[in-house]
Amino acid sequence: MSGRAAPFYCPYCGDEDLRPSEQGHGTWECGACNRAFRLAFLGLLARGVAEGTPHDRI
Ligand SMILES: [Zn+2]
Repeated sequence: MSGRAAPFYCPYCGDEDLRPSEQGHGTWECGACNRAFRLAFLGLLARGVAEGTPHDRI
């Protein structure tokens, strides 16, 4: 594996007919709705690993 994250469903139409796009790293094309999109990792959340649930915080 290359370590890339692969989407299972198109975020726009929900179809599974996805294929890697030639437009660059992390880009995908949906064969059902003909949309192209990019997946990107933004970074870790500042809160880190939370203990408990958000409801515990006031
Ligand atoms: Zn689609």
